[in-house]
Amino acid sequence: MTTIVWFHSDLRLADNPALNYAVESSDTVIPVFLWDVNAERDASQRDAVGAAHLVWLRHALPALSASLRNHGSHLILRRGDTLDQLNHLVEELGAESVVWNQRHTPSMAARDLDIAEALRGDGVQVSTFSGQLLHEPEAIQTGSGGPYRVYTPFWKKFSNQVHVGAPIDCPRMGPSKAPDTWPDSDDIADWSFDATAQDGVDWSKDIRGTWTPTEDAAHDLLDAFLETGATGYADDRNRPDMQGTSRLSPYLHFGHISPRQVWDRVESWVQNGVMRDGADVFLKEIAWREFSYHVLHHYPDTPIEPLKEKYAPFPWVDNESGLRRWQRGLTGYPIVDAGMRQLRATGWMHNRVRMIVASFLTKDLLISWQEGAAWFWEHLVDADLANNTMGWQWAAGCGADAQPFFRIFNPVSQGTRYDPDGHYVKRWVPELADVPTKHVHAPWDAPASVLRTANVQLGADYPRPMVDHKAARQRALEALDTIK
Ligand code: FAD
Repeated sequence: MTTIVWFHSDLRLADNPALNYAVESSDTVIPVFLWDVNAERDASQRDAVGAAHLVWLRHALPALSASLRNHGSHLILRRGDTLDQLNHLVEELGAESVVWNQRHTPSMAARDLDIAEALRGDGVQVSTFSGQLLHEPEAIQTGSGGPYRVYTPFWKKFSNQVHVGAPIDCPRMGPSKAPDTWPDSDDIADWSFDATAQDGVDWSKDIRGTWTPTEDAAHDLLDAFLETGATGYADDRNRPDMQGTSRLSPYLHFGHISPRQVWDRVESWVQNGVMRDGADVFLKEIAWREFSYHVLHHYPDTPIEPLKEKYAPFPWVDNESGLRRWQRGLTGYPIVDAGMRQLRATGWMHNRVRMIVASFLTKDLLISWQEGAAWFWEHLVDADLANNTMGWQWAAGCGADAQPFFRIFNPVSQGTRYDPDGHYVKRWVPELADVPTKHVHAPWDAPASVLRTANVQLGADYPRPMVDHKAARQRALEALDTIK
């Protein structure tokens, strides 16, 4: 039997249930990656996938192709409507079966069902598997059979109910599973995946230097994290100036590593007594990802609509120039600017800083969370419909959490607390490199002589704060009053 394995957001060979099944059950296995820009646009409910996502794929696909070649196989790239492409391949190869790992965003999941039904209607065997999440989004239910809207009770149920099995090893493919002749493949260089420059700047070049988008790199990162960072994770995960988190988010998003592999590896470290503190906190974060998919599954409009309906008429402000200053990291609040510049340079931002910049946009500037989510969507290498929606709605106070809108982060005290020596700010806002630590999170409060010595002229070298936080906080609370 000839089986087509359709790869999408599961760019790995190990713990890949669809690939494993194909290798075990078929004589010939044809791995394919299909690029259907219309389906991607539909999934994001925005403007296709973001540019950072494309930069990642541009390098991840050749890497996957190379590892398949090391196993005597190939990766066939095709572009166009997914069902059309699968039909062409089935016909071209005389394939009897198509397999893939399920996708979990609502529109992709629905699309997959349609594709499966159409293929089956033509007599093709279809098998789909679960490989991207630890549990199906609908598997966890409240006592009354509904969805959870708050994380803590979800986690309690999840940790009692979900049994995470052992990951599957990389299957033995070898040349015996190859067809006599490989079908034609597109060349990824022709897919226009290289990020377009904005404002004449190729902002993606540092992304390429920051990440290695491969399966091996994901495992190396996890090992490095477990060896060095994991024990202090409970506290250090809030410190953007430290390597306190795993940085696995893009690897989990693209499926270079599965959540099951991560979970299993952490548990084995715990069982072997290598790791104690931090493991439960880390696994709880992995479960946040599950929670995000649970909420998106049950509330598929949340990428555009607030989960808490009362926020729908919130009086967001239209402020193009303010939005632009936030996007470019020119707000005059160093921790906000550092985060926005880290995002643009590397395609990633530390979680604590994501919360700070999101609070600043939605509360200090009263610009809608959807604007923020759209900018993140374009620039994050881990841009993920479920997690991004969850993060933005959480920060804006209108999402699946008890976080109330009136808790408004103070960017100065957040900076002082989580970047106490100013290392993070000084790295990403080099204009402030010589400002003494005491003043680095609020340079406008520094005596003129201190700023002179640090070669900073506010308003020229670095902006003055674009809003007064105290007044902005008051304005946000008054806006909230209008929808109470
Ligand atoms: P670690 O702390 O090492 O955590 C391990 C893994 O757990 C992460 O890789 C991620 O998969 C998961 N995780 C951790 N925190 C969260 C969380 N709060 N919600 C859901 N999953 C989590 N994460 C994305 O993957 N994609 C996004 O598009 C995204 N957008 C966000 C937008 C905002 C406004 C906010 C506040 C958060 C967003 N997050 C998003 C969640 C979180 O910031 C990132 O997952 C985290 O920073 C990734 O870094 P890490 O891999 O080092 O995390």
